[in-house]
Amino acid sequence: MKRTGYCGAWRESHAGQTVTVAGWVHRRRDHGGLIFIDLRDYTGMVQIVMAPDILIDGVHTAHDLRAEDVLAVTGRLVRRPAGTDNTKLATGLVELQAGEIRRLSAAKTPPFVLDEAEAVAEPVRLKYRYLDLRRPAMQANLRLRHRVTALIRDYLNGQGFIEIETPMLTKSTPEGARDYLVPSRIYPGRFFALPQSPQLYKQILMLGGCDRYYQIARCFRDEDLRADRQPEFTQVDLELSFTDQEEIFALMEGVMARLFEEIVSRPLARPFRRLTYREAMSRYGSDKPDLRFGVELHDVGPMVQGSGFAVFDRALGQGGVVMGLNAPGLATFSRRELDEWTQAAVGWGAKGLAWIKVTANGCDSPIAKFFSAELLQRLCAEFDAKPGDLLLFVADAESVAQTVLGQLRLKVGGHLGLIRHDDMAFCWVTDFPLLARDEDGKRLVAMHHPFTRPVEEDLQWLDSEPLRVRACAYDLVLNGSELGGGSLRIYQRELQQRMFGVLGISPERAAERFGFLLEAFDYGAPPHGGIALGLDRLVMILAGAESLREVIAFPKTQRAVCPLTDAPSEIDRQQLDELHLKIDAAT
Ligand code: ASP
Repeated sequence: MKRTGYCGAWRESHAGQTVTVAGWVHRRRDHGGLIFIDLRDYTGMVQIVMAPDILIDGVHTAHDLRAEDVLAVTGRLVRRPAGTDNTKLATGLVELQAGEIRRLSAAKTPPFVLDEAEAVAEPVRLKYRYLDLRRPAMQANLRLRHRVTALIRDYLNGQGFIEIETPMLTKSTPEGARDYLVPSRIYPGRFFALPQSPQLYKQILMLGGCDRYYQIARCFRDEDLRADRQPEFTQVDLELSFTDQEEIFALMEGVMARLFEEIVSRPLARPFRRLTYREAMSRYGSDKPDLRFGVELHDVGPMVQGSGFAVFDRALGQGGVVMGLNAPGLATFSRRELDEWTQAAVGWGAKGLAWIKVTANGCDSPIAKFFSAELLQRLCAEFDAKPGDLLLFVADAESVAQTVLGQLRLKVGGHLGLIRHDDMAFCWVTDFPLLARDEDGKRLVAMHHPFTRPVEEDLQWLDSEPLRVRACAYDLVLNGSELGGGSLRIYQRELQQRMFGVLGISPERAAERFGFLLEAFDYGAPPHGGIALGLDRLVMILAGAESLREVIAFPKTQRAVCPLTDAPSEIDRQQLDELHLKIDAAT
C-alpha cells in the first residue's frame, strides 16, 4: 500500500479517484453506523469514513483504532454528502471511503493531546518532542527555518560566497563566555574546546585566500542561563576579504530584505538607520535601541546645575549626569504607581527617581520648589512637555543614568502601548568602544572580541586612554534586540600583539593560545571583516514565535538539559578511566 498523495492534498477535483494515504490518527469519531477518522501528516488532514466492522490487518476493527496510531488507507475519494462540508479544512469538501486499512504501528495513549500541547509544561513537550513536532505549528516553524537557511545560502552563493565547514573539536575561541570542553583520550590532561564561534578559523580562511566564506555554524557557550538563551545555538557566520563596513552593511541589508520579502511579504526600507554607540546610549539608553517609538532621553545636567537640589548637585559634582525623559500623559500616576516605578528604577541600579507632573496650573513635584518658574518652563520646553505629561529624572554616573532611563523608556513604551508588534525597526549601531572594564572593574576586556580592529584615528590612545578607543565594530538591531554583530579585524601581527597586551594577555600566553594566528599574519594577510547573525532569533521573529525553543528542533530547557535524551548524563567508570578523568567525590 504505497502512498499516492499526502493527507492534506485532496480537493473536490480528485473525487472519484482511488487513492492511498498514510499518516497518524488525529481523532476518531463514532457516529452510529459509521466511524470517522481524521488522518494527519505534515500537510494537513483528510477525513476517512469506514464501517465499524471493517477488518484492520484481518483481526482488529475500527473501534480498536487510537489517537496517534499510524495507518495506511486505500479507498475511493468522494465528494462529501450535502451539508457535511468542513470549510475549516483544506480537504473539507471530500472524504475517503476506506476499502483497505493497515495499521503500520499502534500508539499508546499519548501523554498529552496534540491540540492542547501549548498548555503542557515545556519539559514534557521536550521529553516527547516527537509528539510535539507532529503539531502543525512546530512543523510550520521547522519548515520556515529551512526556507530561511535555503534563502540565505542562495543569496550568499549569488554574491560569490562559498560555504565552508570549520571544526567542532578545536581550541578555545574567546567570545566572552566559558568553553564547553571535550577531554582527549589520546593525550591525557588535554582538552578540545567546542567553538564559541568559528571566529579564528574564518579569519584563517581569509588568510588562505578563500575571499568570501559563510557557514550556518553551531556555536557553544557555557553561560549562566538567562531567559531565552541556548547553550548551543546557530549563527549565520560570514567573513570577507578586502572589504569595509559599507560593503558588509549593504550585503546584510540585502539578505534581510530578501528574507522579509520572501517569508513575510514585507518590503524593507533601505539603507537601515545608523546610530553610533554614543548616540544610541545618550538618546535611547541602550546599545540595542527599540526605534519603534520615540520617548528619547535628554541630558539636563547643564540646565539644572546649581539648582540647590542636593541629589542633582551631588551627582553633577561627582562628574555624573542628570538625565530624564517625558512619559506622555502619565501625570495621572498615583503615588503608589510612582513608588512602583521608583522601585523598578532602583532595581536597575538607580539610587532613586525624581519626577515632575506637568499640569495646566504649573508643575507638581516634590522637587519643583528647587527650581525657578523660568527653569521649570525651560525643562518643559526641553522635553516638549504638555499638561498631563510626567517627567522622570535620574541623577547618577552617566552609564547608570542612561541604562536605567533606557529601561524606563521601554516601560513607558509598553505601558502606553507605543510599541507596535508588526513594526520592523532595523538599525545599525556603530563605533562601539573597543574595550570595557570587566565586572569587578580591574581588567580591560574586549567589548566585541580581541581580534576587532581599533578605529585608526583612535589608535593614539590605545595605551594612554584605552577606554576612549572606538572599534570598527557594529551590531544589527531589530526592535530592541540584537540580531547580530561583527567587526573589521586586525590583520597585522604588531597590532594584534599590542591588543593582547592591553587585554593583559602576556606574550607567552598569547603565543600559546593564538600563536598560530600571529604567525599566519606574517605570511601575507588580507584586510578582512565579517559578521554573524543569530539564526534562531531571526527565525523566531519571522515565525512570530515567542521563544527560541519554538524554532529549534531539539532545544535545551532553560536549565540547559535535554529532557528527550536526558543529557548531560553520567558516564561509566571505564569511560572516565579511558579519558584519564576522576570525578571529585565532594561533588
Ligand atoms: N564571531 C563574532 C560573534 O560570534 C561575530 C563576528 O565578529 O563576525 O559574535
